[in-house]
Amino acid sequence: MKIWINETHQKESIQALKKLIDIPSINSGDGTTYPPFGQAIDDCLKETLLLCEDLGMSTYLDPEGYYGYADYGQGEEMVAVLCHLDVVPAGDLSLWDTPPFSAVIKNGKVLGRGSQDDKGPTIAALYGFKAVIDEGILFTKRIRFVFGTDEETLWRCMERYNLKEEQPTMGFVPDSSFPVTYAEKGLLQAKLIGPGSSEFNLTCGEAFNIVPGRASYQGKDAKLVSQELSKKAIEQEFDGQTVTVNGKAVHASIAGEGVNAINQLATGLIHVHSHPILKFLVEKVGNESNGSSIFGEIKDEMTGGLTFNVASLYVGEDKSEIDLDLRIPVSFSIENLVQTLKEKITAYDLEYKEFDRVAGLYVPEESELVKTLMAIYQNKTGDTTKALTSGGATYARTMKNMVAFGSHFPTSAGLAHQSNEGISLDELFRAMDIYAETIYQLCCK
Ligand SMILES: [Zn+2]
Repeated sequence: MKIWINETHQKESIQALKKLIDIPSINSGDGTTYPPFGQAIDDCLKETLLLCEDLGMSTYLDPEGYYGYADYGQGEEMVAVLCHLDVVPAGDLSLWDTPPFSAVIKNGKVLGRGSQDDKGPTIAALYGFKAVIDEGILFTKRIRFVFGTDEETLWRCMERYNLKEEQPTMGFVPDSSFPVTYAEKGLLQAKLIGPGSSEFNLTCGEAFNIVPGRASYQGKDAKLVSQELSKKAIEQEFDGQTVTVNGKAVHASIAGEGVNAINQLATGLIHVHSHPILKFLVEKVGNESNGSSIFGEIKDEMTGGLTFNVASLYVGEDKSEIDLDLRIPVSFSIENLVQTLKEKITAYDLEYKEFDRVAGLYVPEESELVKTLMAIYQNKTGDTTKALTSGGATYARTMKNMVAFGSHFPTSAGLAHQSNEGISLDELFRAMDIYAETIYQLCCK
């Protein structure tokens, strides 16, 4: 296979990447007033569009500032490359060896926030494109780079794009690992709301996507609760006033690997308070992390089993509430699960309130798109890792016939969202070469 990348591409791409990393594009906006996600993200979007113009593309900036895109080529069909320019905050600065928002090249790496997620992969795809047009090759399809600005939070950028703009026929998302991710589970986050209680109150848990590792109860009957938990051999502490269950916190997408402290606490509490929300937890959830008492077995070959996480529990005088996070195998309908859940909770005086629903991603492994990208990756690297499925989420699921593809190599450390995030120049250039071949095969053949 042809090698596309030359020294000029290498030099220029490093400069371009440094420029983008130096803009601290952390979300600081309220999502409504211009610019919706803060000045830095807006600056980064404009800087990227300027770069695209330098590379020979025509550009468009959403007047409301949610997204931008850059186009090239001609033809009926459009191939899209979906990237994002926002980054997560730097976190504890003392853990960084170099400044997160002033890119440094050290030991063959570009260091800085966004170098892996997702500014490095974005630049790799852009200079892969540049390498193809430098050969003077005719594009028979159009290519569009779409730049999102809200990936790390609520994806409002892609929601707007999909409302207002043309849909591509196919494409890829350089915001994951090589080789291809062709399936991602669906996501459902919901609240179950029930009656309040004048007898006791309780607030446990954190975010939807975390299996609660601790759950505490304080009340005049805490000792009784502690005794009940002891009978069941549940790990807990009791200090005379508060009983605390120690479970194991993990990400909700791997709920089965954790221990849900709220579900365990409920099995003790139910002996003291016969509240319907506790009954629901004890009778319909128990120690399960796969929702089987509610839904039966929900599992498929492509993406595995359902994960069901009770993320939080609140009981107050006014109301009671549970937050749920479900990751749903791609061959199951989210709507059917919602209907089943609604039916099962009425017996417990609970009401369903949806918080977020995101359809899964599935492009068959035998599809032209997956086969083409897998062949390119294997030819370029010799790596025979099989195509991937995931409980996580990329922009790929926001459009049809779209998969996640690189630019992280399976052999190197994943440093996205961590301190000392960095990308090796070698991997940046190898990804660029893979993307050049990909763009050539998808747009020019
Ligand atoms: Zn990302």
